[in-house]
Amino acid sequence: MFHIKLGKFMNPEKILKQTFGYSSFRPGQKKVIDLILNRKNVLAVMPTGAGKSLCYQVPALMNEGVTLVISPLISLMKDQIDSLKQNGINAAALNSTTLQEEVNPILRQAYEGKIKLIYITPERLAMDYFRYQLNFLDVDLVAVDEAHCISQWGHDFRPAYRQIFEGINSLKSKPTILALTATATPAVQDDIGQQLNIPQENFIITSFARPNISFKVVNSPQNTHLYIAQYIKAHPDDAGIIYTNTRKKVESLTDYLAKKGISVGAYHGGMDAKERSQIQEAFQFDEFQVIVATNAFGMGIDKSNVRFVVHASSARNIESYYQEAGRAGRDGEESEAVMIYHPGDLHQYRYFIEESDADQKYKELQYQKLQAITDYVNTGECLQQFIVRYFGQDCPPCGKCSNCLNQGDLKDITTDAQKVIALVYELDGRFGKNIVAQCLVGSTSQRMQEIHADQYEHFNSLKISQKEAVSLIDYLIASGYLKIEGIKYPLVHVTNRGWDVLDGKATVKRRISKIQKRKQSFAQ
Ligand code: ADP
Ligand code: ZN
Repeated sequence: MFHIKLGKFMNPEKILKQTFGYSSFRPGQKKVIDLILNRKNVLAVMPTGAGKSLCYQVPALMNEGVTLVISPLISLMKDQIDSLKQNGINAAALNSTTLQEEVNPILRQAYEGKIKLIYITPERLAMDYFRYQLNFLDVDLVAVDEAHCISQWGHDFRPAYRQIFEGINSLKSKPTILALTATATPAVQDDIGQQLNIPQENFIITSFARPNISFKVVNSPQNTHLYIAQYIKAHPDDAGIIYTNTRKKVESLTDYLAKKGISVGAYHGGMDAKERSQIQEAFQFDEFQVIVATNAFGMGIDKSNVRFVVHASSARNIESYYQEAGRAGRDGEESEAVMIYHPGDLHQYRYFIEESDADQKYKELQYQKLQAITDYVNTGECLQQFIVRYFGQDCPPCGKCSNCLNQGDLKDITTDAQKVIALVYELDGRFGKNIVAQCLVGSTSQRMQEIHADQYEHFNSLKISQKEAVSLIDYLIASGYLKIEGIKYPLVHVTNRGWDVLDGKATVKRRISKIQKRKQSFAQ
């Protein structure tokens, strides 16, 4: 089929300026748009806030026919449609519960060229009658938003996404496909490419680095609530988001902060839709400084001047963390992303995975993701670099995350590391990290007696607390000297890198945090 472009006189730059009021494209946008206009299927992987929507909105206005946008969330669609309407573009949304008598007029308007974009849920596309009706339209482009939901390797798999390709394929107009996501590891990218028929050369991946965000990990503060209150008070003029992992914690933290005189709102999935949208709007319009929320908050929020995102409890995986932390600094101004780390949170997540009735393969994947976030909070390397590498890219050290700033306090811990690694070798991969830690510090627990721990050469070889021993083991895992294997019972093993340390071919260095240093100097 031959497509006449509406704009013989239109080009993407003109539309960008006249319709959206922007003067230039952001990185990646133009490339994606050009490929689409040449009717090539494209995967666009761009960080949150990079401007993914424009990549299909501009071609939608240039194409003769209609653009379908597949999106998982109805609330997200509403926001998009409202902002399109502000720019004078008519768009509509259809989900699986929209009544047939509402569907027909929308499709008629699309047929008449009065509606250029239709947002639909994947469930709607799966409906036979809807597919039949779509064949009366000339669908030029299908944009698949949150495309990582198609992959079981991702962190947010949605079964309805599996049927998208079949749905697109059933359309007579053979539309171009644009898949969009902010979080896709190389495995997820390949999976999306395979399922939606997108060749690798059309993967447009802009840098994952967020140079205006300073990342920070705070290990087990004595009083998390107090830490957060002080943090907010140190940033009195800045808007921020505090994420925590349960509704109850949202409520107790909100109360605490309000009592400290902080202007704060709460947001979680237990609140009704109206209440939630009121709070979201109030935050958007700076009616209060800080919002305390579960991860229900965020998809589709477009507040550009969020200056800090603090995780009061650790995120479950790097993908979610980066997406949530990435809501800071969407306007490009300097911002901070702080993760407060409590080992207990991660134990709890492990327990949830263990107790869930997901299949073994899925659980295994969740454990791997949990291990990656455990590594993040324990790594001594640049935090920005760690995340970017996780997504299969690279970047230089950022120079401003809590690890980069700690550069001066690098300590050689090779001798201690050798003791840990040697003990793990002695234990022959039969135990988890807590038993290894007990053994290292010479615990007198019953378990130690049961396994006759004192027979091992490196039993009681480190004069540190058991908690510090666990932290050291975590650090050695995060740095690749040790590794975790096994699902239900995660056991510690030595890696090749660890062998190099035992053989004296490599040294191990660790950044000592200011708190640890203070403790040390008290002890001396
Ligand atoms: P994403 O979906 O990638 O998270 P959005 O599409 O919501 O990001 O865009 C984020 C913000 O950036 C929006 O406010 C959008 O209007 C704005 N934006 C997108 N492209 C440009 C551009 N070329 N110039 C200026 N602002 C842009
Ligand atoms: Zn850094």
